[in-house]
Amino acid sequence: MIRLLLLSILTTLSFGADNHFKLFKKGENDSNRTLLVIGGIHGDEPGGYFSAALLVKHYKIRKGSLWVVPNLNFDSILRFRRGVYGDMNRKFADIKESDPDFKIVEDIKKVIIDPHVSLVLNLHDGRGYYRHKWQNSIFNPYVWGQACIIDQERIGSGELEDLNKLANRVNASLNGKNLQEPYHKFHIKNTKTKDKDEQMRLSLTYFAIKNRKPALAIETSKNITDLSLKIYYQLNAIEEFMKLLEIEYERDFSLNRESIERLLQNSGSEVVFDKIYTLPIENLRSYINYFPLCSQNPLVESDDPLVGIRKNHDGYILLQRGHILKSRLKPDYFTECKPLRKVEVSIDGKTQNVKIGSIIDAKEYFEIIGQKGVRTNVIGWSRPGTKEESGFKIYKKDILPRFSVDKNGSLFRVEFYKKRAFAGALLVRFQKR
Ligand SMILES: [Zn+2]
Repeated sequence: MIRLLLLSILTTLSFGADNHFKLFKKGENDSNRTLLVIGGIHGDEPGGYFSAALLVKHYKIRKGSLWVVPNLNFDSILRFRRGVYGDMNRKFADIKESDPDFKIVEDIKKVIIDPHVSLVLNLHDGRGYYRHKWQNSIFNPYVWGQACIIDQERIGSGELEDLNKLANRVNASLNGKNLQEPYHKFHIKNTKTKDKDEQMRLSLTYFAIKNRKPALAIETSKNITDLSLKIYYQLNAIEEFMKLLEIEYERDFSLNRESIERLLQNSGSEVVFDKIYTLPIENLRSYINYFPLCSQNPLVESDDPLVGIRKNHDGYILLQRGHILKSRLKPDYFTECKPLRKVEVSIDGKTQNVKIGSIIDAKEYFEIIGQKGVRTNVIGWSRPGTKEESGFKIYKKDILPRFSVDKNGSLFRVEFYKKRAFAGALLVRFQKR
């Protein structure tokens, strides 16, 4: 017993963070004009990480290249905390191997010093509104919001090494556009890290410039409560840096607050569990019961890099987009999974082979074609005396609406099992008629 306990403590200590970051490389493969954008080093700064996530999903690079890490400190993003293992942005000078952030910090360092990378942007939301002179507790030199942060004026004589000049140009562009309020004006905050700021010597940007990589931080203000407005400012700054680097881009939305708000409200994204169970991200019920999973640590994939899960203390799995809760899943852990590849389904009288994990649309009814050794369970539908639910025409009116996964009562679960093993699922969406 004691040995077991000790073993479990040791494993906890030697484990790193639950979630590692993802790196997305967009544009030309071997470009020497590469902008590296990093979001989410601090988990409670959504202006930064949502901006980076929108770059991943909604921008196309036609010339040059854009590398994006939207979720550097993903464990902290999911918990909406600055740093669940301490401040990650103070770990770049020195980090112990036992630190849960160790692998993340070492891996992002490798990305930063990659020879392709021309310039590094680290995105933050900072307190207050930075001003060179003290005005009051919100507008003063000690806060960080609405500023381009540089560690020193320049790091060399190259065109991209004059950090002050770059920051000036970007600020001029930001301030020349429609600021929501005049006091949102961006300033340059030079931390003069080498001589004056011991704490900043431990930071990501200082690590970069010590390796002679131009690096800046963009900070929108935590005092701006509207997330879409912070993202609007961040994306304008990032686009200006892309212009500086002659990176050509396209985005599939217009850069204004209304469009950004729409993308925040309805991403249209999906999440796939263990490659065999897909849920949409939006409009889910607050609770989904008996959700089958292949292990305690399921594989979670999504086209939205901020989608992730975490275990709550009550045993529920919280499905989130960034810090935003989308649904609570009550997990039903299977000791074994034997995934089906395809399922034959008759949809409104037309028989099709459907890949496991799909979401399919039906107008009137669907019928699962039975397979030997496979049990079918349509959640919310039953017929007395039968456990096997393939071979029946199932209409929307026959399924109890409270069993839908969506709030509208139109998206239903069909789950498959091979004896005691879980074999995957389909969702059936009944279209409005
Ligand atoms: Zn920060």
